[in-house]
Amino acid sequence: MKLSKALSYAFFMISAFASDTWVSYSGPQYVAMSCKAAIENVTTYCPGSKKKKGYGCACKNKAELGSWISCAYQHTSEFDTDVESAIIQFCSKAKKVPTHSSLKKQYKNATSYIVDIDTKAQKPKTTNVPIKGALVNNLYTRYSDSYRSRWGNYRTSHYLGISFLAILAGIMVIAGIFNWLCVISPTVENKSKRGLTKKLVKYITLPATFGKKHIEAWKLGQLPDRFESILLCGIFLYSLFSCAIIGFSYHDGDPVFKKRSAGISRYYGDRTAILASYQFPLLFIFPGRNNIFQLFTRWKYSRFVTLHKWIARIVLLEMLVHAISFSVQSAGLGKTASRLASTYYRYGIVSIILLWLMGATSVFFIRRYSYQVFAFCHIVLAAVFLYAIHYHVNTLEFAPYYWTCIAIWVFDRFIRSLRVLQFGGVRNARVQLINDTTLRITVSSAFGLWRTYPGAHAFIRFLTPGTFWQTHPFTIISYLKEENTIRFYCKVKQGATKRIANFVKAEKGPSRNIWITVDGPYGNQNPYHHYDKAVFISSGNGFPGSYPSVKSLMDTSSKTEIKLYWTIPDYSYIDCFAEELSALKGLPFNPVVYVTHPNNCFPIIDISESVNESSTNSENESKGSAQVRELSTSNEIKKYFDYITFIEGRMDSQQIVERELSNANGTVAFGCCAHARINDTVRAELVKHLKGSDPNFSYFEETQVW
Ligand SMILES: Cc1cc2nc3c(=O)[nH]c(=O)nc-3n(C[C@H](O)[C@H](O)[C@H](O)COP(=O)(O)OP(=O)(O)OC[C@H]3O[C@@H](n4cnc5c(N)ncnc54)[C@H](O)[C@@H]3O)c2cc1C
Repeated sequence: MKLSKALSYAFFMISAFASDTWVSYSGPQYVAMSCKAAIENVTTYCPGSKKKKGYGCACKNKAELGSWISCAYQHTSEFDTDVESAIIQFCSKAKKVPTHSSLKKQYKNATSYIVDIDTKAQKPKTTNVPIKGALVNNLYTRYSDSYRSRWGNYRTSHYLGISFLAILAGIMVIAGIFNWLCVISPTVENKSKRGLTKKLVKYITLPATFGKKHIEAWKLGQLPDRFESILLCGIFLYSLFSCAIIGFSYHDGDPVFKKRSAGISRYYGDRTAILASYQFPLLFIFPGRNNIFQLFTRWKYSRFVTLHKWIARIVLLEMLVHAISFSVQSAGLGKTASRLASTYYRYGIVSIILLWLMGATSVFFIRRYSYQVFAFCHIVLAAVFLYAIHYHVNTLEFAPYYWTCIAIWVFDRFIRSLRVLQFGGVRNARVQLINDTTLRITVSSAFGLWRTYPGAHAFIRFLTPGTFWQTHPFTIISYLKEENTIRFYCKVKQGATKRIANFVKAEKGPSRNIWITVDGPYGNQNPYHHYDKAVFISSGNGFPGSYPSVKSLMDTSSKTEIKLYWTIPDYSYIDCFAEELSALKGLPFNPVVYVTHPNNCFPIIDISESVNESSTNSENESKGSAQVRELSTSNEIKKYFDYITFIEGRMDSQQIVERELSNANGTVAFGCCAHARINDTVRAELVKHLKGSDPNFSYFEETQVW
């Protein structure tokens, strides 16, 4: 029940939260509450009653009810039906619920023998006659101020939380409409590169925040792009002002929070916790692989991960202020010991420690050097945090916010499992280790239901003893020779990829069959076919980020002119991608391959498979080359791949951008999946070319890092 309710919250968060989970008191309700508190502060009508704060005595005891309704009419107007309704509503919590006419009757009855209490000296400890007077009025004012501050702060905090989500949703709606229109209509796409929107692209959506670096990390991590930075600054300032400006000050003589520190700290404590409660579900939606907002906005997954990271940092600070505030408040009320003994308070302390531990284990250094340690700690700590926070808030009104987080998480995992099953569950993949640097994984889906598209990636789980608990994203390439078969090219790094490389080596052969699961496809397909020219720039293992789009443009006979630039450290990379390069033979463009260190390692390239590949895809294949099976010199490579221009030396991406723009006859799309520095150079160079005379272009960054 709770889970299904929370699932619906996940999708209709704003309206559901606004309408259901918190009470907002009306003016007459404040009057009723303050009158009752003032009267019960002056005297006691039910001395034996255990529930002093309850409504039992006030609603059942005729004398107290008489005092209450007299006070309520005095601070509204005689026979005010709204204040009567408020009393009736409060009394619905007690077993005896008065009616409008019974309240009027009680009032008339009370006025005949009501007594005035004007000074403290006149205060009776207990009584059985209705009371009114200066002392009651004075207390009424103080309670009214106190309640209006405390519960008004609640209401304002909820409105601030709702507004936060609404503003973010508004930004995403605008971005979504714009991005989808660009995908659907080339006209919108081209018109969007003129006038004011061109300026927006130049100064806001395209550049790095400062200088050139965006994909390339600074010492402390990656900096978001400029649009993300502006959005995050907005989120930070909104949160800061919402938490810092409470909007009212402490009322001296507050009968609830008698000390100033107890009152002020409570207001800050509530404000920060309530705002954070609205932000928490985003921390679970945004990093989810099946994030509905990603589909809607067409923003990259890495952008949502960036939002997740920075909103999480803001939430950490809010929760710290919440914790400090409540420590101060507990001390101010003299309740530190009793609160420390209570379950909800202890779980609150555990929750904040877990949150900060999560933050500490997510720093850039750990993510970069041991992603799996980070991922493991993050998942375990998040699960324990949700358990602990549930005990902290379940007696309050905030549990649904955290049930929402759980529901989002469970939902994402459920959809992931469905995707894995759609691919066929556990599949036997052929994993080849090429030149000790790259893993080529070939795997087929079990059913014909699974489709991929250019730009898609999938998460692979290698079911070997050292890697079964991790998943890693790799770009998908369709394997042309077999139906329903895909390929991944994975650079061997230091973690799972190295373990798999060693696992393959242990077999003493060039390849090994490994059981894997495939969760995907994910990611956006970019509309290169809308442009007159598409320029693809990639480096090393970034080739799979360009190749499927190139193939797709060719296969769909698009009129788009294609340019492909690929830079590789040495000729060994030709060995990895020989089949894909062979498939480009006969196409009306010359890919350009830069080989930075041509004399480095020189493998013997076995192209027997590639020959078959190209013969199925190209009618122009010469008989001579069909007999070639191995290439062992750069000249042989150049001769065999004679439709490719090989340039030995560094690729100058800046020059490529300039050249492609200067000789463009129409619109240009740049797609980049390369080393971080190349991506950043291309981006920076394009920003420079957003001038009136330059052709219209778009930049699609296929590289993602998180
Ligand atoms: C959308 C996307 C598509 C990718 N496509 C390819 C591809 O086609 N070919 C290719 O060689 N590489 C690709 N990568 C990079 C690839 O995911 C990492 O190289 C791989 O996860 C490294 O595994 P490892 O355990 O050996 O890494 P480690 O040596 O432990 O770490 C190397 C680097 O990879 C990062 N990394 C490690 N695990 C993950 C993970 N689960 N998710 C994200 N980053 C991680 C680390 O932060 C570190 O910076 C892609 C990455 C993304 C985000």
